[in-house]
Amino acid sequence: MHGAFNMLTLVNRQKLLEAGKGTRFGANWPGQRCLAKTRQGKACKNPAMKNRGRCRLHGGKSTGSRTPEDKKQAAAAHTKHGRRSKAHMEKVRQINADLRRVILQGRRAGLLP
Ligand SMILES: [Zn+2]
Repeated sequence: MHGAFNMLTLVNRQKLLEAGKGTRFGANWPGQRCLAKTRQGKACKNPAMKNRGRCRLHGGKSTGSRTPEDKKQAAAAHTKHGRRSKAHMEKVRQINADLRRVILQGRRAGLLP
């Protein structure tokens, strides 16, 4: 009875080892790695979290800014000069449209060549 139990567990163990091979995080693991720069200057080898691209130690757990103040702060940190901001681009577009209209009116009135 004891021997049969051992054989059974051995078979199960072998099956489990085979079943886990595809998902083991060894050197030949085919999945996506974190690749963040570590303090040793090398790429992190941990598996990246799903849909995040980084491991749990390198920002993979972060869900980003949640409150409006935090979102504003994050946007401010990513803004260099604001010349490409939505508000500024719209202002420039409006100025150019006004300029085109004035030039067209000037031409129609014969004030411009
Ligand atoms: Zn990492």
